[in-house]
Amino acid sequence: MGHLKDLDKQHIVNTYARFDVLIQKGKNATCWDEQGKKYIDFTSGIGVNSLGFCNDDWTQAVCEQVKTLQHISNLYYTTPDITLAEKLTQATGYDKVFFANSGAEANEGAIKVARKYSFDKYQTQRNVIITLVNSFHGRTVTTLAATGQEVFHQYFYPFTEGFRYAQANDIESVKQQIDENVCAIMYEYIQGEGGVLPLESDFIQQVAEICKQNDILLIADEVQTGIGRTGKLLAGEHFGIRADIVTLAKGLGGGLPIGAVLCNQKTSKVLGFGDHGTTFGGNPVACAGANVCINQISDPAFLQQVVQKANHIKETLSKVEEVTEISGIGLMMGLELKTKTAKEVAAECLKRGLLVLTAKTKVRLLPPLTINNQELEEGIQILISVLNQ
Ligand SMILES: *Cc1c(COP(=O)(O)O)cnc(C)c1O
Repeated sequence: MGHLKDLDKQHIVNTYARFDVLIQKGKNATCWDEQGKKYIDFTSGIGVNSLGFCNDDWTQAVCEQVKTLQHISNLYYTTPDITLAEKLTQATGYDKVFFANSGAEANEGAIKVARKYSFDKYQTQRNVIITLVNSFHGRTVTTLAATGQEVFHQYFYPFTEGFRYAQANDIESVKQQIDENVCAIMYEYIQGEGGVLPLESDFIQQVAEICKQNDILLIADEVQTGIGRTGKLLAGEHFGIRADIVTLAKGLGGGLPIGAVLCNQKTSKVLGFGDHGTTFGGNPVACAGANVCINQISDPAFLQQVVQKANHIKETLSKVEEVTEISGIGLMMGLELKTKTAKEVAAECLKRGLLVLTAKTKVRLLPPLTINNQELEEGIQILISVLNQ
């Protein structure tokens, strides 16, 4: 491990603060390091392994696809992306989908759709997108600009123009940014990286109304909240909102890189031949994995289990003295603590065999949606022992 750690530092650009552990294999919500030490996983690789590590159906579909056709390019028709597109649009009620390879790329696609929609219709400088303070939309130069956090607006100048920031849950702040140049408003229903902060229902309704009245497109960044994470296939369902464009990534592929831009009737014809594209978009292997994820997760009984597990975690942890608040919806949770820092809790959990994340001041939990009761109990007990220490 010491040797590998040195090699990592030596050969990989040093952009990640890693936990001091090398994870070697996993099954569902349990994984093991290279010395055979066991960990319960409350992270899903940041909301990615929605079906846990190496789900049987997922592994089989991916392996079969690898052995059949791993890639051919978007110049040809293939089966897995067509199947996935049909399933995704049917399950969500959206009209069409564009496949990308990551969350940031999905958001780039959404931004392009929004700007071209406005360009086609108004042919003016109507290209401004309002995002929220404390949001997170990705690491490309444009999605960094979209991200409403000053810490991300350094070094890489010049950033893409045309973003304005409004305060979350403050409709007056949104109204102040509205003028004839605004083409879209983009938000996360729950700010994930920003600290697991859900938007208020009133605010969401009012934003939707403003969009409707002014022909401003609503973009929901569901890269983290989408695909069952909150107990609904899309988090927008909790609020009865159907954004014009929804972006997906993290949990969609179950561990393979894929992103998606869902477009409604109004936005699905904005991009035409040559307007957008990506070499790996709709890759057969990634789509074969995503097909298994959608098959399992779009089942109402599956989503009901997500809600039950989430309620169980909330009920149990709300009795812990050290936990002052539990935020989030479904299996996307943030714990505000009384005396301990999130960082020290995460480090101590790791020692005792539990992987958790942090987001700003909070301990963040994103367990696989398929975590079983035994794994859940084991993980909760470790977390409680650390919090009570
Ligand atoms: C993780 C995340 C992104 C960026 O996704 P990448 O795949 O890392 O590019 C964008 N938006 C939200 C809400 C995210 O949580």
